[in-house]
Amino acid sequence: MPKERLILLSDCQSFYASVEKAAHPEYKDKPVAVGDPARMNGIVLAACPMAKARGVTTASRVGEALAKCPELIVIRPRMGTYIKVSLLISQIYHSYTDLVEPFSIDEQFLDVTGSLSCFGEDVPGIIRSIQEHVLLSTGVWTRVGIGPTKILAKMANNFAKKQKDGIFRLDYDNIGQVLWPLPVHDMFMVANRMARNFYHMGITTIGDIARMELGEFKQRMRTTMGKQSDIQAEYYWQTARGIDPSPVVTGMRHQVKSVGHGKALRWNLYTRLPEIEVVLLELVIEVCQRARRYRYMGAVVSIAVSETDGHKSNSYTRQMTLPEPSALTHEVAAAAYRLFVDNWTGMPLSRLAISISQLSDDRVMQLTLFEDRVRTYNRERAVDQIKTRYGSRALIRASSLLESAVALERAEQIGGHYK
Ligand SMILES: [Mg+2]
Repeated sequence: MPKERLILLSDCQSFYASVEKAAHPEYKDKPVAVGDPARMNGIVLAACPMAKARGVTTASRVGEALAKCPELIVIRPRMGTYIKVSLLISQIYHSYTDLVEPFSIDEQFLDVTGSLSCFGEDVPGIIRSIQEHVLLSTGVWTRVGIGPTKILAKMANNFAKKQKDGIFRLDYDNIGQVLWPLPVHDMFMVANRMARNFYHMGITTIGDIARMELGEFKQRMRTTMGKQSDIQAEYYWQTARGIDPSPVVTGMRHQVKSVGHGKALRWNLYTRLPEIEVVLLELVIEVCQRARRYRYMGAVVSIAVSETDGHKSNSYTRQMTLPEPSALTHEVAAAAYRLFVDNWTGMPLSRLAISISQLSDDRVMQLTLFEDRVRTYNRERAVDQIKTRYGSRALIRASSLLESAVALERAEQIGGHYK
């Protein structure tokens, strides 16, 4: 039997506020929040534990926070610095294992299965070493969830936050006693709308899902949400049971200049815009999904087109700069479509490729306060997560079922596309 994996989800406590407190020793014993001090109706992005103890909460208004805690020191955010510190913390994690996957600016997965022998198989020992290393280097305290899968490590982290030593382990022995009594709303990836669906189905706790047989749960989901809910049912059921075979994937953050994907086409099938639009969207979906996986977004969208009518051939590339860097499917697709329509001569297509370049760290977008974009982004990441676990066939746009779609065909080719 393969050795059970040992996965950590390490989360930085009050990340931006901790970075600022480390940079300003004079505020050591003062409540500190990060937000725009010039905009009273701006949002508090982070608050140190001392500020939280006085009622300051993340995402409240700066003015409200100051009303509750008049001595609060409000510091303007310095996103570039936070990203640098986050990358430094990645480097520290990399000194413990080569398998490090950023999940957000202040949360990263580490697979330390292979590192443990260097620490005399002492799990708390390796974690304390990581915590001390990060604290001494950056002034940031980390809390660590431990589990045999990423999903359990992630959910364990919520409990780690309540422990004095910031460490909690969730595994198949304690999941029933620790996780299952919690309201279903507390389960990973369950937002308000999904929680309402579950309540409607008579499901109130995580254990209500976990204790059901998968077939029964699928059936109940179908009754409430329709036939297409099977994949979601499987996702939530596995999550409730802590099942998650997806590996910790190290990003290639420093080597990549662009993320792109292309496809040779049977040109006699791609003669009209509606068919071409379908394949264009599929390519964009793949490009954006891969970019998000490595936490990139691109400022420039490029298309490479080859056309032929069987006699003459014609190839060209075109590119445009986006208003803002993006890895959002609808934004990249709109740009690629515009580029195509503006340049297409009308001949049938024999090849189409899409790429994004001038890459930057997508965590910058997470830090801007454009709620709609962040929400769309999170929704797309949710779909990515399902695809990572079940393969790219798991969720496919309805347009891909059209004859001109190549996504299904491609989904059957294993590993051929993400070299
Ligand atoms: Mg945090």
